Amino acid sequence: MPDRVIIATAGNGQIRAVAAFTTDLVNEAARRHATSPTASAALGKALTGGLLLSAATMKGTGRLTIRIMGQGPLGLILVDAGANGTVRGYVSHPEVDLAPTPQGTIDVGGAVGQSGTMSITHDTGLGHPYTGTVALQSGQLGDDFTHYLATSMQVPSAVSLGIFVEPSGHIEVAGGLLVQLMPNAGDEIAWRLEQTLNRLPSFTQLARQYHTLEAILAAALEGFAVEILQVDGTVRFECPCSPERVLRAIASLGEAEIRDMIEVEGQAEVRCHFCNERYLVTREQLVELLVNP
Ligand code: ZN
Repeated sequence: MPDRVIIATAGNGQIRAVAAFTTDLVNEAARRHATSPTASAALGKALTGGLLLSAATMKGTGRLTIRIMGQGPLGLILVDAGANGTVRGYVSHPEVDLAPTPQGTIDVGGAVGQSGTMSITHDTGLGHPYTGTVALQSGQLGDDFTHYLATSMQVPSAVSLGIFVEPSGHIEVAGGLLVQLMPNAGDEIAWRLEQTLNRLPSFTQLARQYHTLEAILAAALEGFAVEILQVDGTVRFECPCSPERVLRAIASLGEAEIRDMIEVEGQAEVRCHFCNERYLVTREQLVELLVNP
């Protein structure tokens, strides 16, 4: 099940659906940030939700920034996802690990927290970004994305996110499904869709049973004719940070700050929040910034 996003319509264009497998990119995020199984599940759901929402609402160079600030021990979860399929993100406390719920599932709701906020900044890349904020509903994130779409964007939707973490910490499967009613949808379609979605198994169950995104969508939207519009196989964890960007960021701090770095540390170490990449800037490079700012 390689990482992919597919976009489809159903019910003669009255329903839009996006489905994604994100197993490889969630494993990459978990490796980079050394997340506990609980943090892997929470960050993985946030990354997957970001990609689904981006595919459903953005085009071209458009990006979404998702800030999930719950009262739970994980702290802030920040995700940046683009319509081009690239996503990056981090969690403030990747080491936090909670005992499973009585149902045997990872306690994402407890780790994120049942109260707090989810804020999403929509940037089309053409100026005038806007931000919507809603209160967290359960901290399970699928419910919270659903609530965001329904209240902040006024789009009746269902978002199902699934991450299965093996005892070793490896993520066996990650992915999700977003189904939304288009503005032209009639009451009968809306009612039938609600009945269908109420019976929907979890995303991990769907993935185990149906294996492909096309089959998952067909099962999730049983009774509706599904038409696949777009398949994107280039989804990946990607961060645009680089040694050049780090040097430019240090240069922007100004001469006094750079002199201070040279005198106190003799070098500078910078870590990118988003991807946890570590950059070491040598004394020679710092001196060079003073000579050629
Ligand atoms: Zn980075």
